[in-house]
Amino acid sequence: MESQPNKLAFDSGWAYSPAPESTDHVHIDKKYDLFIGGEFVAPVKGGYFETINPATEEVLSSVAEATDADVDRAVKAARKAYRGAWSKMNAAERGKYIFRIARILQERAREFSVIESLDGGKPIRESRDIDIPLAAAHFFYYAGWADKLGYAFPGRTPKALGVAGQIIPWNFPLLMAAWKIAPALACGNTVVLKPAETTPLTAMKLAEVIRDAGLPPGVVNIVTGAGKTGAAIVNHPDVDKIAFTGSTDVGRLIQRAIAGTKKKYTLELGGKAANIIFADAAIDQAVEGIVNGIFFNQGHVCCAGSRLFVQESVADEVIQKLKDRMETLIVGDPLDKNTDVGAINSAPQLEKIESYLKIGQQEGAEMYQSSCPVPKRGYWCRPTIFTGVSQSNRVVQEEIFGPVLAIQTFRTLEEGLTKANNTPYGLSGGVWTDKGAKIFKMTQQVRAGVIWANTFNKFDPTSPFGGYKESGVGREGGLHGLGAYVRLEPQS
Ligand code: NAP
Ligand code: MG
Repeated sequence: MESQPNKLAFDSGWAYSPAPESTDHVHIDKKYDLFIGGEFVAPVKGGYFETINPATEEVLSSVAEATDADVDRAVKAARKAYRGAWSKMNAAERGKYIFRIARILQERAREFSVIESLDGGKPIRESRDIDIPLAAAHFFYYAGWADKLGYAFPGRTPKALGVAGQIIPWNFPLLMAAWKIAPALACGNTVVLKPAETTPLTAMKLAEVIRDAGLPPGVVNIVTGAGKTGAAIVNHPDVDKIAFTGSTDVGRLIQRAIAGTKKKYTLELGGKAANIIFADAAIDQAVEGIVNGIFFNQGHVCCAGSRLFVQESVADEVIQKLKDRMETLIVGDPLDKNTDVGAINSAPQLEKIESYLKIGQQEGAEMYQSSCPVPKRGYWCRPTIFTGVSQSNRVVQEEIFGPVLAIQTFRTLEEGLTKANNTPYGLSGGVWTDKGAKIFKMTQQVRAGVIWANTFNKFDPTSPFGGYKESGVGREGGLHGLGAYVRLEPQS
């Protein structure tokens, strides 16, 4: 498949030549079993499902579907490992295993990047520069904490929880696995992880890495499947903690399912981030920040800047510059290094996005799409903006999880703030201004877990991440992320 030359570039005769990343070095098995107790084992009921490449609709591999009996096996293996080698191990030794995972990931980064782009549709530039290096960085960071836990909570003694059940979405498959597994292991827990149905392959490759790193059998178990497999983990009586990243709807189901049990939980849920541009901002950088916030990675980002608020005096300029920039975006082959916007992750997700494009127009908003060509096969959505929206419109209130931006204007800081906070979500936000005082005011008063100033979508393993309101419960990352995997006892 070739990436599509965009119209503006094509007309002016400077379209980039295709620069596809090679897949020669990548090996994907025809079939993947479950990773339980340190071995790859067939599912009890013998069911498998296919995972496809959303850019071509071609089948990449068959993956085991774990049923309740398989989840039970995985939890038992995790419990055995927790009681055995893992909890008896000296913390510095435990750290060495996690460092080893990090180093192997770094060594195999190119292979992981290509598989992430093949299985999920994200541009290789994202998986190569963001997903895979950050996943390795998380393992490095938490490996360093393993033997320093005693210093993390002054006056209290942290104790591992036991078996952690972890369920992750399809938008950052390996990175979410790293966010979950690294702190759990550093704190001395064992793990049963379920990747999303559409993107299981890097998790299965991670299982190989974990085996190659020599972790004691059962410390990490990876079970593939769909929602039912996730529910089996949530409902298993011998799981001590649930860590979930995904939609707010499923987060609610989980909260209901574990209410009244002893299970601890963290939930990282949906978002509808406000990106707020003041008239005194560096406009060109802000436009690039808008594009980065919502169009790169197809808007498949929980903290995507999907609501834009522009100060009225610069609104025409910002919107025009944004439209011009949208025309230059390259939509197409995720493996092409020039691609800005890859494939939508699955047919149902594309359907959902397209339904919102209709809803936005029915609500009376004006829709503008980049005129870029898109490939014939696969799942694609052109970068899209809606103007003339009001606060109550569904495209403003609901998470679309696609390259779709709703634009509104404001006059005063207070008006911008009130509009930005008018959402059930509170995961992230962005502020663009030349004035430090405005940055402080906005970062204090926008109700969201992360606020970026004059940048957007930047991550680091040392800084905590998580939501207010319907965006979730608890924090991952940094020192806060350790707290989610320990019980704190008075210092003995
Ligand atoms: P989702 O449908 O909630 O799925 C997330 C995970 O839960 C998947 O592994 C899914 O399995 C599983 N699952 C589905 N039903 C379940 C149930 N009843 N019990 C237990 N597990 C169940 O979300 P998604 O559509 O994959 O991901 C997109 C969502 O994730 C967006 O809302 C986005 O905002 C959110 N997200 C949040 C963060 C954050 O840090 N806050 C980060 C990334 C994404 P299958 O997919 O295999 O069916
Ligand atoms: Mg796939």
